[in-house]
Amino acid sequence: MPSAEKIYLDYAASTPVDDRVLQAMLPYFSQVYGNPSSVHAFGQQSELAVDRSRASMAQRLNASEDEVIFTSCGTESDNLALRGVAWMQRKRHGSRHILTTPVEHHAVLHTVQLLAEQGFEVEFLPVDRFGLVEPGDVEAALRPDTAIVSVIYANNEIGTINPIAEIGAICRAMNIPFHTDAVQAASHLQMDVVRDQVDLLSLGAHKFYGPKGVGALYIRRGTPIEAAQTGGKQEFGLRAGTHNVPYIVGMAKAFELAQEEVDQRAINNCRMREQLVGKILSTVPASQITGHPEIRLPNHASFVFEGIDGNQLLMQLDVAGFACSSGSACKTGSPSPSEVLTAIGLDPEWALGSLRVTFGHDTNRDVVDRFADQVILAVEQQRRMGR
Ligand SMILES: *Cc1c(COP(=O)(O)O)cnc(C)c1O
Repeated sequence: MPSAEKIYLDYAASTPVDDRVLQAMLPYFSQVYGNPSSVHAFGQQSELAVDRSRASMAQRLNASEDEVIFTSCGTESDNLALRGVAWMQRKRHGSRHILTTPVEHHAVLHTVQLLAEQGFEVEFLPVDRFGLVEPGDVEAALRPDTAIVSVIYANNEIGTINPIAEIGAICRAMNIPFHTDAVQAASHLQMDVVRDQVDLLSLGAHKFYGPKGVGALYIRRGTPIEAAQTGGKQEFGLRAGTHNVPYIVGMAKAFELAQEEVDQRAINNCRMREQLVGKILSTVPASQITGHPEIRLPNHASFVFEGIDGNQLLMQLDVAGFACSSGSACKTGSPSPSEVLTAIGLDPEWALGSLRVTFGHDTNRDVVDRFADQVILAVEQQRRMGR
């Protein structure tokens, strides 16, 4: 347990479980424990909890209950969407073309790389200097043999929000399955799969104050997909394995709260974001924000500093009591600039000095102010010492 003075500013990597979520989960560890697939009363009680959670998730997504599949995490949801649809599309129609972007999370990027080894042709759409995908580029790249399109909803590293509804409309008109990784977006934006015309949408509970190790995949009725994990008949035959009942209950509760409180959370977060960005950019020479200045996640500020070692900066900040990230949690410790920062055209001299700051329930204006002072100090220190 970090000491009391430690300040957490890495909510895009994970969030603490909200107490209301924890309370909802607790009975399902030891009081209600039947297997939801069992026919007896114990099983029925658990099944009821899973059904209620599914109904709640569906309602918040503007989906039907039979369109929500529970998985073990956002990564698994991305895997099931891409593998499941790509395989089925190839089986049914011989489709082999996969269209995605160079700014996806590794859960998508590494999955399409594997599909490429299995004979799929993976094409990466261009992105602009903010990491935005242009819907016209999607339209131009779609082919009759496109098996699936996958575009990240909001980027975990640079916060940019893509025009998902516009891309959705284009894919729908061509009848091509459209997947979006909404693992970051669902914590901060109002989700609506009908408005956005998506066919598949990935969620992960631990990004919105739910437990780690549970996720969901929205799959629009009629979407061609096969199971990536086989076994029992759970989850409409698409995801075998006994349900993790307490975590599913927790995810549904956390998603309900995130979606209900979305506006209120966004207003607070945007104010703090403007405060931090304003102070850093006006004080630190050779600094830039990464991602779009406005079309971005409300709690997300990301920067690059020319000539700075991002990992060293993280360590300096950690010593000063602030926990943040260089971008994606998975990339910490890696010496080469991230794929995302390279894809938006940043020079390595800048891209290696990246910093991602993400706010949450415990962040306030005072914390942001003190944090900004530390960043200013740490960058100055590094530059003075020539790294
Ligand atoms: C965190 C994250 C994932 C992975 O989700 P897990 O539940 O941690 O597996 C996928 N995509 C994005 C955009 C993420 O931020």
